[in-house]
Amino acid sequence: MLDKVVIANRGEIALRILRACHALGIRTVAVHSTVDRNLKHVAMADESVCIGPAPSPQSYLDMASIIAAAEVTDAQAIHPGYGFLAENADFAERVEQSGFVFIGPKADTIRMMGDKVEAIRAMKEAGVPCVPGSGGPLGDDPAENVRIAREIGYPVIVKASGGGGGRGMRVVQTEAALVNAIATTKQEAKAAFGNDMVYMEKFLENPRHIEIQVLADGQGHAIHLGERDCSMQRRHQKVVEEAPAPGITPEMREEIGRVCVEACLRIGYRGAGTFEFLFEDGRFYFIEMNTRIQVEHPVTEMVTGIDLIREQLMIAAGRPLSIRQEDVVLRGHAIECRINAEDPDSFLPCPGRIQHFHAPGGPGVRVDSHVYEGYTVPANYDSMIGKLIVHGADREQAICRMRVALSEMVIDGIRTNIPLQQRILADTGFEEGGRNIHYLEKRLAERKEKSLSLL
Ligand code: ADP
Repeated sequence: MLDKVVIANRGEIALRILRACHALGIRTVAVHSTVDRNLKHVAMADESVCIGPAPSPQSYLDMASIIAAAEVTDAQAIHPGYGFLAENADFAERVEQSGFVFIGPKADTIRMMGDKVEAIRAMKEAGVPCVPGSGGPLGDDPAENVRIAREIGYPVIVKASGGGGGRGMRVVQTEAALVNAIATTKQEAKAAFGNDMVYMEKFLENPRHIEIQVLADGQGHAIHLGERDCSMQRRHQKVVEEAPAPGITPEMREEIGRVCVEACLRIGYRGAGTFEFLFEDGRFYFIEMNTRIQVEHPVTEMVTGIDLIREQLMIAAGRPLSIRQEDVVLRGHAIECRINAEDPDSFLPCPGRIQHFHAPGGPGVRVDSHVYEGYTVPANYDSMIGKLIVHGADREQAICRMRVALSEMVIDGIRTNIPLQQRILADTGFEEGGRNIHYLEKRLAERKEKSLSLL
């Protein structure tokens, strides 16, 4: 087994990784910036190393400092968490070249999945259903691009191959706008990602976001752990996630799961990963693969009983996967609400000191959070300060438990999105389930209009 792991992240995921390490008897090294000395996991880690000032380029994104921390503490492996360097192929490569284990896939796999044109090509070859599209980068011949778009059918979406975080894409409704849209997206992609390669897909108008969790050991074994529905989004950011996805039958799950598992085996995937799909009219369309643990992994853990971070550590230690596909049984329903330090109406970040903190409890309630009474949320990082996860025998019970848990949760001193989460959990559309990725934004826009008309 691994002996000592550097946790190259902060906040709730750093604490989550620390817990999984300690449960396996693995010692931990917390690396942190100067404003993060008071993080909960820093106090709980066996060792800690300050790796730089608050701005993340000088700390959590500083590859040399993180690798140096592994060297001075004589650690064996580095867990990148999510965000920061988690999907940086160069980092994975440098970690391994420095003689440490990178807890994640091979650098080449990360590189391939970071290049969307490459990723889609590989997935198509592996039999994964993709969005109808150009099937490769767009060239400079306007007539050819017009032909491709006609074949796909409008509306289409032009996307940057190197894009991420919901940036670098443009929806095109009519042929008149196509040529310009391609040129503009190319320019933007060049400026933002240093790569002007773009491709074209059919724009799906009302899809849901459904993703499949996989685990693979890189030694010929791979399994899927069912799906998550992450359609409740605002500005491409997930707000509420759940497992299983309403309306997905065991047959559909088995079929798409099997396709993902086969793709993992074909590309020699190693570690935890997620195949993201848009789902419309009963069909799955692959959009991208995330080669890391995801924020919403707990809902899968709650319904499968499998500790995903533990499995990542075991795989990194070179152990063959011990869970067989038939061991994966989904029980009940789980929901996660992301808790953000932000104004629930304006969505502006709201850092500051937490005066009172009370975590909810009771059967099936889980709180993954690093915050505590007296903790100051710094302004330098993402505003997510925790996740509230509930499990119930069925979706109805999970919703009831989440409503109670949200009403119990106290975070005073800063504003949070708890009131927004309460409105979502009280919404009849959410209660019915299966809403598409535009639903939340539409409801928010309606609410804004109503409040304006009252003035
Ligand atoms: P990123 O890596 O930037 O997150 P994705 O390819 O995952 O890019 O797309 C992000 C979001 O953009 C999707 O969740 C979806 O809302 C929208 N989107 C992407 N491709 C399409 C498409 N073909 N049709 C409709 N919406 C799309």
